[in-house]
Amino acid sequence: MHTSALVLFSGGQDSTTCLADALSRYDRVETVAFDYGQRHRVELDARLHVVAALRAQFPVWAERMGQDHLLDASVLGQVSDTALTRDTAIAMQANGLPNTFVPGRNLLFLILAAALAYRRGLDVIVTGVCETDYSGYPDCRDDTMKAMQVALSLGMDKRQRIDTPLMWIDKAQTWQMAYDLGQASGRSNGGAQLVDLIVEHSHTCYLGERSQRHDWGYGCGSCPACELRSTGYARYALTRNP
Ligand code: ZN
Repeated sequence: MHTSALVLFSGGQDSTTCLADALSRYDRVETVAFDYGQRHRVELDARLHVVAALRAQFPVWAERMGQDHLLDASVLGQVSDTALTRDTAIAMQANGLPNTFVPGRNLLFLILAAALAYRRGLDVIVTGVCETDYSGYPDCRDDTMKAMQVALSLGMDKRQRIDTPLMWIDKAQTWQMAYDLGQASGRSNGGAQLVDLIVEHSHTCYLGERSQRHDWGYGCGSCPACELRSTGYARYALTRNP
């Protein structure tokens, strides 16, 4: 049985949901994020607010939360020229990928996470990548994750499982999953509380916008990340209050 996990936790909706999922399934959960010179620091700030709110509102989970790690991956800013690390408009590239795609980013993150998990004695790496509602990033695909799992397990001579709880669900289902996890936490009205916590504290917007509060959270409302988050929330809200 796996009892401990390392969650790739960026402070966004997906990784916050993955963190709640890991806290409901594993005895010991540590978190890791990467500073790669992203244009907007709000995500890195958001993750601290999310962790503080989870600890305060879900004491059962607080007991399981271990160390938080922030690793320097600024080398990515040196090798890539993308809309997430440079001041350029978000656009489609000739190869069909948006220029928010940072080549090698998720692969590098997984290698660093696996090395950290090895040192910390953590069984499973959890990541919120998803093939259902995504911007077409090839490093979010299930096959990429399976291949990384094999490469890491061989390269470190230790079975390294990569858990991807959101791989086959869409954004509306991710909101629903958060609700269900909150309900199952044993806290009364925990479902609505966890959804509210994600709305208020997690950050997804590519433009780093946090001045406008919508029913689905803060953001510009029009970048691809906001669009996925808001349309998913609208569909989720419809199922809650038809
Ligand atoms: Zn946005």
